[in-house]
Amino acid sequence: MERLYQGIHKFQSSHFKKEEELFRRLSTCQTPEVLITCADSRVAPNLVTQSRPGDLFIVRNVGNIIPPYDAIKDKNSVAAALEFAVLVLKVADIIVCGHSNCGAMKVLLHDEDGLNDMPHLKDWVYLAKPVKMHIEQYYAETAPDLKARITEKENILEQLRNIETYPFINDALRAGLIHLHGWYYDIGTGEIHYYNPETDKFESLL
Ligand SMILES: [Zn+2]
Repeated sequence: MERLYQGIHKFQSSHFKKEEELFRRLSTCQTPEVLITCADSRVAPNLVTQSRPGDLFIVRNVGNIIPPYDAIKDKNSVAAALEFAVLVLKVADIIVCGHSNCGAMKVLLHDEDGLNDMPHLKDWVYLAKPVKMHIEQYYAETAPDLKARITEKENILEQLRNIETYPFINDALRAGLIHLHGWYYDIGTGEIHYYNPETDKFESLL
């Protein structure tokens, strides 16, 4: 905790003063893009995109999962965030960003019975069960490391499909008001690859 307290002191005594005008402006409005990413501490969206406060409306959860529209009937925090971002903030772009060495995807591939003492985690990651089924069907013989990378990328595509199950998202997409993007962040190299629907591959952003 000491490191965090020192950080707060440094922020208030140094960074905040330099950016005072930005923070004053942001106190009453925001025009961000939406980034849905994993809760993993190694994923630092503002750092890797070099963005500032006000630039990213970030939705984080274990495994960057967007529950399908009918999967959680109420108290769906991802849906609540998306409604606010799309219908109130009128965001133009929504990015689903997965990452390498994702613990949630490891859990998903894990033996189901091994998760019985973590019922909340099990229920949550199994929202992505179609990804597990796809991997088991097509990549059963693939080496573990490669299988993990493929799972992480397939999960991004699954969540991009899930987001379209929300009627208000679908309406905004049809009207051309929002655009969806899939990103894959590699923790070890710092690279981000984006999903190109035309080639059906993740390609370098640079
Ligand atoms: Zn993760």
